[in-house]
Amino acid sequence: MSFFKFCPSCASTHFSFPDNRRFLCDDCGFTYYHNIAAAVAIVFTFEDKVLFTVRNIDPDKGKWDLPGGFIDPNETAEEAACREIKEELGLEISTSDLKYITTSPNNYLYKNVPYRTMDIFYECKLTSDVISVEAEDEIQELIWVKRNEIDLNQIGFFSIRKVIGEKYLY
Ligand SMILES: [Zn+2]
Repeated sequence: MSFFKFCPSCASTHFSFPDNRRFLCDDCGFTYYHNIAAAVAIVFTFEDKVLFTVRNIDPDKGKWDLPGGFIDPNETAEEAACREIKEELGLEISTSDLKYITTSPNNYLYKNVPYRTMDIFYECKLTSDVISVEAEDEIQELIWVKRNEIDLNQIGFFSIRKVIGEKYLY
């Protein structure tokens, strides 16, 4: 079971790729490590509410998510968080606005390629709940949910369900 049908180097079909971790071609020795990718997720809070995005793209279209995304090469996690927030919400925040929460591993299936991620969570307290979507292709809408009314079943990603469930439910 692999998302590669052929060796990318010699097109052989004789290879091993156990658990989608290390691809090794038996014929030419081509080796590829499908390492985990680092991502950030930001929990915006205002009073007793938490901000969720509603995903507009698969995986998990229609499910609740958090703002955030993959960390680019040469970027710190905090810089990635600020960049993603600017791109998704049009909001300027600084790295000092971010309070580290925890990390949690996740699976991210995109166009049939199973990525494994390490999601890094930050909290950002807001002084207003007026906030809007910038990246309408990615996000259907934003919803503020009271901490005692969060429905974990609406959350798509395992890592986010876990962290919200452990840290944010009253
Ligand atoms: Zn090969």
